Amino acid sequence: MQFRPINPQDRTRNIVVLTAFLALVLVQVLATIMLQRTDLALILLAFCLLSAVALTKWAVDTYGYECPSCRHQFEISMRTALLTPHIGDRKLLRCPSCGKRGWAQAVIKAHQPK
Ligand SMILES: [Zn+2]
Repeated sequence: MQFRPINPQDRTRNIVVLTAFLALVLVQVLATIMLQRTDLALILLAFCLLSAVALTKWAVDTYGYECPSCRHQFEISMRTALLTPHIGDRKLLRCPSCGKRGWAQAVIKAHQPK
């Protein structure tokens, strides 16, 4: 697996995706409150759960992480992605190479042309 640093286009794309997602959730929350419909609340809940899984899957497929100690670059599992804290594009991870725990920098998986 090859990795490359996150570039400004990646950041812009992330902000666009996240903003669209939050707008969609906000519209659903407002519709649920204003129409006072419990069925809408259930749809909203299902949508939030499904999109949390979908977003995590996307993040796992898109990003790898670089160890702050030894610079080893590695992939993480869905489970690790869901259960570990992150701030911005750093995530608190244990490096599979040197075993040290630290705030690993996200890097993009660069798929090599076949
Ligand atoms: Zn390491």
